[in-house]
Amino acid sequence: MSTPHNWFFREGGTDGGGGPLVILDLDGVISDASHRQHFMRGAFKDIRGFFNASPADPPLAAGRALAASIAGDHTVAILTARPHYLAESTRAWLAANEIRHDLLILRPSEGPGSRGRSADFKRMELHRLRASGYEVVAAIDDDERIIEMYRAEGVFALYTHSGYYER
Ligand SMILES: [Mg+2]
Repeated sequence: MSTPHNWFFREGGTDGGGGPLVILDLDGVISDASHRQHFMRGAFKDIRGFFNASPADPPLAAGRALAASIAGDHTVAILTARPHYLAESTRAWLAANEIRHDLLILRPSEGPGSRGRSADFKRMELHRLRASGYEVVAAIDDDERIIEMYRAEGVFALYTHSGYYER
C-alpha cells in the first residue's frame, strides 16, 4: 500500500515498517484544546475558528509524558480528526513541544474519511494501519464514541476525560 496523503511520518522516526503500534489522539490527550471549546458551543458552531486556534494549545504534560513512555520498538501514531489543512501547523506544534511520535494522521482532504463521523474516519485509518502491517496494541482517546469503535474492532482502548464531549 502506498502511503496515504494524510499520513506524515516524522523525519528520523520509523517509516512504515509495520510492527507494534500505539494510537494516541491529539486534542484532549496531548494538546489542551479547552481555550477553543467555545467555538463549538451554541447554535452557530465556528468549526474553522475552532481548528485555526489549535496552534495556541498548550501541551498536556501527562499526555506528552505518556507518549514519551511508550517502548522504543513501538510506533507511536497520533491519529486526529483535525482536517488535513492543519498538517503543517500541527507538525510544527508537535516538533516545538517535543511530542514523541513517528506518524501523524489527519483527516484526508477528500474521499473516504474526509467527512462524516470521527469514529468512522478513525475506523478507516485503523484498518489501513493494520493493512500496512501494524499490530495496533493500544489506543487512547477522550471521545467515548471513538473508544467504543476501537473496542468493537478488538483494540485495547483507554479513555481519558477531557470534558470536551457531552453525552
Ligand atoms: Mg480528542
